[in-house]
Amino acid sequence: MRLCSIASGSSGNCIYVGSDNAHLLVDVGISGKRVEQGLNSLDLTGKDIDGILITHEHSDHIKGLGVIARKHHIPVYATGGTVDALSRMNLGKMPEGIFHEIREDEPFEIKDLTVNPFTIPHDAAQPVGYRVECGEQSVGIATDLGKYNEYIVENLQDLDALLLEANHDIRMLQVGKYPYYLKQRILGDRGHLSNENAGRLLCRLLHDNMKAIFLGHLSRENNYEELAYETVCSEVTLGDNPYKSRDFKIQVAKRDCISEVITV
Ligand SMILES: [Zn+2]
Ligand SMILES: [Zn+2]
Repeated sequence: MRLCSIASGSSGNCIYVGSDNAHLLVDVGISGKRVEQGLNSLDLTGKDIDGILITHEHSDHIKGLGVIARKHHIPVYATGGTVDALSRMNLGKMPEGIFHEIREDEPFEIKDLTVNPFTIPHDAAQPVGYRVECGEQSVGIATDLGKYNEYIVENLQDLDALLLEANHDIRMLQVGKYPYYLKQRILGDRGHLSNENAGRLLCRLLHDNMKAIFLGHLSRENNYEELAYETVCSEVTLGDNPYKSRDFKIQVAKRDCISEVITV
């Protein structure tokens, strides 16, 4: 399997997950042009994409969806609540039958990939994260979650690679210029995961065979790459687990450029 972040951040998200036979995008919150550029650097084009998995309807996850799905007639997978919410948004005219409704905790197959959607606590209609498996290998994508719980920890066990939200530094957010209601929203249980909480969640997920971790969906206003990285690393190193952060390949998925391609 391969995992690659084409773009990740509060301004736009698009992640590639695939095997030798099947190619998926998780969210399309950037322009069609940037998606194509990202795919080209993976030696793929939009024509090769077998499905688009949508986590939820916020614009940083769906901005480019209409263009790319229409152009290449790519099936779009999303929960019923997300499909309803999308139908009320301005995506342009979508072809009949392009949306495939999925349910949390009901795995489905796309060629040789098994996709398992799991519920995440976030202020959207019916948001999900995804675990994607191919044979023995698995990768997880968990962004836009206000908190984590045992159910999420369970869904992210024994992964080979993970893209995890490290959205904000709590102090930067608290003293920053965002209005009060927005600060409360981000800090709330259905908001976004702080760097500290990302580190604590990661401590629950690490195991000897975890090959790579991307920290993603960083806030432009309330975080920066070094801070997210250092905070998560120190949670891992100081946390109640047998590991040090340097035992793992941890890196920040960037807002504006394609990440390294992780092969597991
Ligand atoms: Zn969101
Ligand atoms: Zn988002």
